[in-house]
Amino acid sequence: MIRAIYPGSFDPITKGHLDIIERSSKMFDEVIMAVVGNPSKNPLLPIEIRKQLIGEATKNLKGVSVDSFQGLTVTYAQQNNVHILIRGLRAISDFEAELGMAQTNKELLPELETIFLMSKAEYSFISSSTVKEILRLGGNISQFVPPSVNEYLKANFSRGTK
Ligand code: ADP
Repeated sequence: MIRAIYPGSFDPITKGHLDIIERSSKMFDEVIMAVVGNPSKNPLLPIEIRKQLIGEATKNLKGVSVDSFQGLTVTYAQQNNVHILIRGLRAISDFEAELGMAQTNKELLPELETIFLMSKAEYSFISSSTVKEILRLGGNISQFVPPSVNEYLKANFSRGTK
C-alpha cells in the first residue's frame, strides 16, 4: 500500500492543483491533500474553509483524503506513514525553490521520495495568487478554479473588495 501526500497552501485550490491530484490518485493507493498552515503567508481563506473546498472538489476521486498540519512536511510524513511527496511544476521558475525543498527533505527523511508532476500546458499559468488578484479586482475566475470554489468565492467576496 503506497500512501502519498500532496502538501500546499491551496488558498484556494485551483484547476491546476486539481489536475495534479487527479493524476496522482491514479498512481498511488492513497493520496492525502494536506493544507499547510503557514502563518507568514497571510492567507485569504481559513484552513477549515480551504479543506472544505478541497473536499468538495475531490469528492469523486478514489483514495484521496484531506488534512492539514503545521510544521514540517517530513514530520507529518513520518507520523502518518507517508512514502511519497508530490509537488507540481509549472515552469522553470518553480524549479529552483522546489529543488531546494526536495533536497532538504531528502536530508531530513531519506526514505521519503519527492516526485514532480508537470503542469498541463493549459494550467501552467494558473496560481492561487493570480486567482486572488483577479477576485480582488472584480474579475471572473471561473476558468481557473473548480465550480464549487468559484461559487464559494463569488458568494463570499464581493466585487472589488480588498
Ligand atoms: P505552496 O505554498 O506550497 O507553493 P501552492 O498551493 O501554491 O502551495 O502549491 C502547491 C503545489 O502545487 C506546489 O507544488 C505548486 O508548484 C503546485 N501548483 C500550483 N499551481 C499549479 C498549477 N497550476 N499546475 C500544477 N501545479 C501547480
